[in-house]
Amino acid sequence: HAKAAGRNGAALFETTMLAAAENTLMLERDLGNALDNDEFALHLQLQVSPDGQPIGAESLLRWRRADGVLVPPDVFIPIAEKTGLIVPLGTWVLRQACLSWLRLSRAGHALPLSVNVSPRQFQQADFVDVVRSILAETGVPATQLIFELTEGLLVENMDATVARMHVLAELGIRFSIDDFGTGYSSLAYLQKMPLYELKIDKGFMRDMPHDVNGTALVKSILAMAGQLGLRVVAEGIETREQAQFLASHGKPCMQGFLFCRPMPLGELISQLEAAA
Ligand code: C2E
Ligand code: MG
Ligand code: MG
Ligand code: MG
Repeated sequence: HAKAAGRNGAALFETTMLAAAENTLMLERDLGNALDNDEFALHLQLQVSPDGQPIGAESLLRWRRADGVLVPPDVFIPIAEKTGLIVPLGTWVLRQACLSWLRLSRAGHALPLSVNVSPRQFQQADFVDVVRSILAETGVPATQLIFELTEGLLVENMDATVARMHVLAELGIRFSIDDFGTGYSSLAYLQKMPLYELKIDKGFMRDMPHDVNGTALVKSILAMAGQLGLRVVAEGIETREQAQFLASHGKPCMQGFLFCRPMPLGELISQLEAAA
């Protein structure tokens, strides 16, 4: 019995692996054409101050395939990073974010926009030139952009990363560390970087305020950010309870479904008008 079960298990495993590999190949192929086919959209999610006022918005990429299927960024970003598509895609995102900022600004809501920048994109030799030329082309002030970087990038290539961050910071770009707390970055490293903000990963917020370890971690990130003079945005705020916990523990800024879902620019503008 055990032997038969083992064989079946192995066969099932192989089939699953094959399906996953085929799926990845299909996604890779479709992703290669998606930019030309205009299948991407940039959504925006509002971020709020401790007292609930809009302070900015994060741009989040959406891919709707020709067959109508919406593929989540957690699935396609790693593939784009692997194939290199992330480079032209990241450029598209940056330009699109700048165009969004112009429309927001014309509607009377000149909120700074946060843009996720992937490691491979950031490390391109011409990244700074690309940023400069998109800013020049669109006329968006660099001070209206916050680049969200991940800890992985900082650990991999510390000196080059820090040097490049300083060049961009000279232009006026601000920096945030995304998913903070999930990777490794020492205090010594953080102090060398021109940082503006830390974003507490939503994984830590999930069981808040009931999870004792998570609570301790969130408190220590808030204390550290206070020492370093950094703004904190807590991600993934879904409940009033989570927001109330944060209000009595360091009062970070917040982003989450409780306040606003990621949505197309037009919807965000309507929402801001309705609230005003
Ligand atoms: P991220 O940068 O950490 O973005 C936050 C994610 O949390 C987004 O997922 C957002 O929709 C989700 N989120 C916001 N509020 C809540 C909440 O209250 N509860 C829960 N459960 N989730 C919430 P999304 O849009 O699926 O993006 C996933 C990741 O894909 C992003 O994580 C980011 O790492 C990456 N990504 C998205 N857009 C881009 C992009 O333009 N460029 C790059 N390089 N990466 C991107
Ligand atoms: Mg982000
Ligand atoms: Mg994050
Ligand atoms: Mg993430």
